[in-house]
Amino acid sequence: MGKVTGFLEFERNDRHYEPVEQRIRHWREFVLPLPEAETRQQAARCMNCGIPYCHTGCPVNNQIPDWNDLVYTGAWEEASRNLHSTNNFPEFTGRVCPAPCEASCTLNIRDDPVTIKTIECAIVDRAFEQGWVKPEPPSGKTGKTVAVVGSGPAGLACAQQLARVGHNVHVFEKHAKPGGLLRYGIPDFKMEKHLVDRRTAQMEAEGVHFHCGVHVGVDLSAAELVARYDAVVLAGGAEKARDLPIPGRDLKGIYFAMDFLPQQNRRVANEPQDGVAPILATGKHVVVIGGGDTGSDGIGTSIRQGALSVTNFEIMPKPPAKENKGLTWPDWPLKLRTSSSHEEGAERDFAVLTLEFIGEAGSVKRLRCARCDSSFKPIPGSEFELKADLVLLAMGFVHPVHEGMLRELGVALDQRGNVKADTNHYASSVRKVFAAGDMRRGQSLVVWAIREGRQAAHAVDEFLMGASTLPR
Ligand SMILES: Cc1cc2nc3c(=O)[nH]c(=O)nc-3n(C[C@H](O)[C@H](O)[C@H](O)COP(=O)(O)OP(=O)(O)OC[C@H]3O[C@@H](n4cnc5c(N)ncnc54)[C@H](O)[C@@H]3O)c2cc1C
Ligand code: SF4
Repeated sequence: MGKVTGFLEFERNDRHYEPVEQRIRHWREFVLPLPEAETRQQAARCMNCGIPYCHTGCPVNNQIPDWNDLVYTGAWEEASRNLHSTNNFPEFTGRVCPAPCEASCTLNIRDDPVTIKTIECAIVDRAFEQGWVKPEPPSGKTGKTVAVVGSGPAGLACAQQLARVGHNVHVFEKHAKPGGLLRYGIPDFKMEKHLVDRRTAQMEAEGVHFHCGVHVGVDLSAAELVARYDAVVLAGGAEKARDLPIPGRDLKGIYFAMDFLPQQNRRVANEPQDGVAPILATGKHVVVIGGGDTGSDGIGTSIRQGALSVTNFEIMPKPPAKENKGLTWPDWPLKLRTSSSHEEGAERDFAVLTLEFIGEAGSVKRLRCARCDSSFKPIPGSEFELKADLVLLAMGFVHPVHEGMLRELGVALDQRGNVKADTNHYASSVRKVFAAGDMRRGQSLVVWAIREGRQAAHAVDEFLMGASTLPR
């Protein structure tokens, strides 16, 4: 423990954002890193608790008190080694993780947890700046081959772990570039894409082969993949979006948020749009239906595109501003969360049901809505209408896409429609075929995808070699 009295001496001070009026004029990240001295002082606040709840709060079990201490004493390179021993991609989680670790920090009992995510990000950003992050090619090859389908955080983490123990790893990705939702879902203003390029370059130097623009189950048969490789890992995400089948759904101007967001990411990256008509919020009244990360990203993107207004509807009632610590800590509490995008000018409304899309000349113009009760039934007399030229549906994802690869393989699905596999063996019902990330667990978080990719790599290595030295 660096400074025994750190938590008594220093107040929590987290990264600030560029002011709203500046940041909405560009697509770059806008979180301002803390100066080094301040980061070290923040790390000194860690109490190195006898039972570090943050370890289990963090899905990859980052050894947070250890690297807090190393940062406090200025041992940054060792901190980076420690951090990378549990997390393949801390530069992603240091930017987009909701930080359940901070919810479980003992200092969160009094609402001022250690700025764990900020410290994590500072460690990895410094490590790249200093050239400490290098390719880690294996010392020998096993002669075994593994195909990973999907290059989101689960597929990338799995591929990196397997390549580092000497397997020949080939990643198949239907999009033009690797990264999954890191590249095509999460907007640049939350995470710039050169970070994904930098990691995939490291992975290529470690021996991972990327085959982009290959849709398994469409361009390449899944059965062929199983025949050709010693193991196949399905890490294709949970891409089937939840729809809102109400009157007027077929009007123009109503889209899934995931039809809209990737277009903007491609625009920023100067990637072609593959002939799809542009969906733009410029000069429009936008309504985003759904209150999670996808909804929030739809808001920030619409505002940057120059929407006239952005309204965000959530069907759930407004959560409390503050949780009851006695009931929730160290678990992730249900409370009102205001993202940086919400702060940029969206009107948020809770406990709202959308009943009908009303159009003119085939395009959406208004929404007919009602307030709802706790059983999501409309409250009589509470109906209202709202102007809308663009509606983004961001109500979550139900399960992976079943058509194509999964149907062809015939893997068993669980009750929710995800690929059935447990978290010890990650093995699907089909021999040699494994599953990890959102494709197995359903819509989740980047940090959970990394965890699953790492653990699936252990399981695959054990399947191929009889035993594995990879961490779980
Ligand atoms: C808009 C949005 C914002 C989000 N923001 C956050 C956030 O801020 N923080 C956070 O922690 N989480 C966030 N999430 C959730 C997070 O991105 C996912 O949980 C995570 O990316 C899942 O990783 P994955 O590797 O399992 O799948 P994905 O990232 O979905 O990657 C799956 C990949 O597989 C490819 N693929 C699928 N099928 C095939 C096939 N048959 N052949 C070839 N390739 C295929 C897909 O093209 C895709 O590239 C967000 C999600 C969305 C949609
Ligand atoms: S990965 Fe997420 S939960 Fe884990 S230490 Fe980083 S911010 Fe916290």
